[in-house]
Amino acid sequence: MKIFAKEFLAHRKIIFIFILAIFLPSLIVGYLSLSTFTQRREAVKNFLQSNLWISGEAALKSIESTLLEQEKNALKSENFIHLIQLNKDGQSLCGSSEVLSDIAGELFLLDADYQLIFPETGSEYASVFQWERDISNSEFARFFQEAEFAEFSQKDFTRAADLYTESTLVAPSKQHHAAALDGLGRCLLSSDKYDEAYEVYVELSENFGQFQSKAGHPYGITAVFQLFEIDRRRNKEADSVTNLLDLYKRMRNGVWLLNASVYNFFIEEIETILNIPFNEGKFPEIQKSYQDLQKQQSPYRQTLLFTGFLEREVILKLVEKLSLSRMTGEVVPGRLLTTSENDYHLISYAGLTDIQSGQTFYGGFYWDLNSLKKQILPKVLEDLTKDSGLIFQIVNEDGQNISTGIEEPTSEDFLILSSHIFPLPWKLLVSHPDIIALERTALKENFFYGVLLAFIVALMLFGAVLMMRDISRETETTRLKTEFVHNISHELKTPLTLIRLWGETLQTKKNLTQEQKKESYEIITKESERLSHMINNVLDFSRIEMGRKEFNFKKGNLSEVVLNTVESYRYHFEKKGFTFQTDIVSDLPEMNFDGEAVASVLVNLLSNAVKFSPKKREVTVKLFRDDGNAVLQVADKGIGISQNEVSKIFKRFYRSKNNVVSESGGSGLGLTLVKHIVDAHGGRVEVESQPGKGSIFSVILPISTRG
Ligand code: ADP
Repeated sequence: MKIFAKEFLAHRKIIFIFILAIFLPSLIVGYLSLSTFTQRREAVKNFLQSNLWISGEAALKSIESTLLEQEKNALKSENFIHLIQLNKDGQSLCGSSEVLSDIAGELFLLDADYQLIFPETGSEYASVFQWERDISNSEFARFFQEAEFAEFSQKDFTRAADLYTESTLVAPSKQHHAAALDGLGRCLLSSDKYDEAYEVYVELSENFGQFQSKAGHPYGITAVFQLFEIDRRRNKEADSVTNLLDLYKRMRNGVWLLNASVYNFFIEEIETILNIPFNEGKFPEIQKSYQDLQKQQSPYRQTLLFTGFLEREVILKLVEKLSLSRMTGEVVPGRLLTTSENDYHLISYAGLTDIQSGQTFYGGFYWDLNSLKKQILPKVLEDLTKDSGLIFQIVNEDGQNISTGIEEPTSEDFLILSSHIFPLPWKLLVSHPDIIALERTALKENFFYGVLLAFIVALMLFGAVLMMRDISRETETTRLKTEFVHNISHELKTPLTLIRLWGETLQTKKNLTQEQKKESYEIITKESERLSHMINNVLDFSRIEMGRKEFNFKKGNLSEVVLNTVESYRYHFEKKGFTFQTDIVSDLPEMNFDGEAVASVLVNLLSNAVKFSPKKREVTVKLFRDDGNAVLQVADKGIGISQNEVSKIFKRFYRSKNNVVSESGGSGLGLTLVKHIVDAHGGRVEVESQPGKGSIFSVILPISTRG
């Protein structure tokens, strides 16, 4: 009990010392260093983040100033003066690429009444042919009306042609001249004078192309259709196709100002006519240039789309904004964002007061957001990154980078800034590569220190377990040794007491019978043998412990040694009431062994069999051959050994904790010696045992190993 208590206390002390002296300090140090790392990292991160604010705002300003610069360049008065001059010169006003070659976007111009005056396209309402009233009493009107009468009522085309020719000579304007030429052409055509008619229409298309017929179509277009008709009648198909293709080209380039429906009507008309010969495989070269043309965008069509968009989406909103700002005074540049078909459109506008004296115009700039996304902003961001070392991205509402269109991974610490000046739905995302790196390092460090800490803790626990095991072993050995000393003293005392008692009896009692004397001598001899057996065991054990145990191997007959040992004990056992059976073969081959040691093995096994068989007193000794081994078996029907003790009984000082064992004397060394001796002979010991039923100890010795 005392030993147990001591053991328990020792364990607790060790655990206590382990926790106090090693485990806790290590944990505290680990925790402190981890938290210091974290604090230091946080400090650096905070510093970088405050830097981010300053640099981010500066970057946003820089982006805004780039855009403002572009806006300023676009809305410069010179650009618009240039456009008004173009208008005056009667040149085509579509396609402003020349004006804005260095700016990505398109210009437009409104007059003081918010009417779109650039880009100019044909009005949706066909202009009414109004000149009769002004010239009603003139010579021209007389000739012209007579000509029309001859042409339409009398069907006298020759006279009508003459009258139209007269009209051209007195035409008060180019417009009137054109109308007379048109009539002349018609009459010549009706009188099948193709060559003359052709000349008239060439002149009409080349010199009067911009003037409009009564139907509101430019003569430049209708005259070419007449030329086409003449060529067709004269079987000059190639010429007719070439002329039509040329007209097609000019219309697409916007030589005449047409409204969208007139433009689409004539373009479709020409395409239908041209497709007939092309589908028949005629004029492959002309077809090729026609197809090349179709692959390119039509500048005039673009202009039509643009003005259409302005009229639908922009001008109304602009009117609202401009009327408001008119009330407040000067019109400063402003911006407008519109959305259509999932696309954003950014418009900048400004009032222009200095381009024509006394008149106000409103200039507008339609931003090319695509080029802003793909070229201008990436370039600005690249420069900013170079200067500041920060990472910039412009992202849309879904967080996608607008120039790449994909959501790029960034660190969790970033700054999002929106432009105060431009109403774009985009935002500037700023992050610091060091923060990202810091975060990655932090992750790595945390992982590394975590693993290290876990490893150290595991190592400590492992050490502690080993220590505990060693200590409990040591405690167990100490306990066993104490028990051993106690047992051995008791063991030595009993035979010595008996020897002394019987010696004294022989010495003092003179009248002992012969029988009694014999018994005394026998007891003295037997107890001395027991004593010497015990002392031999202890001596052998101590020799083994000190590594000095030597064996005296000799060739001999194992059966003889076993038989002699058994016989010398038979009387002793039988006297104690044991049935003692033997089955010892005599034809074993000669073996190399230490006879004394093997005898001591057998004596130890026999002595245990007797000691631990309190009730059923049957012991059997067998010696037989099994393949290349000699097997010495000692079986009893005693208390047996539990399964979990079988491996322990060979350990020094070990004794089972039950009454039979503790009441029987013993040192716990017998089986240790047995195992040592058998090992030295290259053999092994096997135990079959069942508690309460008995045990069989088999010593298996190889016959030939030492032969
Ligand atoms: P001792 O016999 O001196 O106690 P041993 O080393 O010979 O020491 O045996 C160790 C323990 O093994 C014994 O104390 C006993 O508990 C157990 N033992 C050995 N032989 C037998 C047996 N034949 N039957 C039951 N228990 C045995």
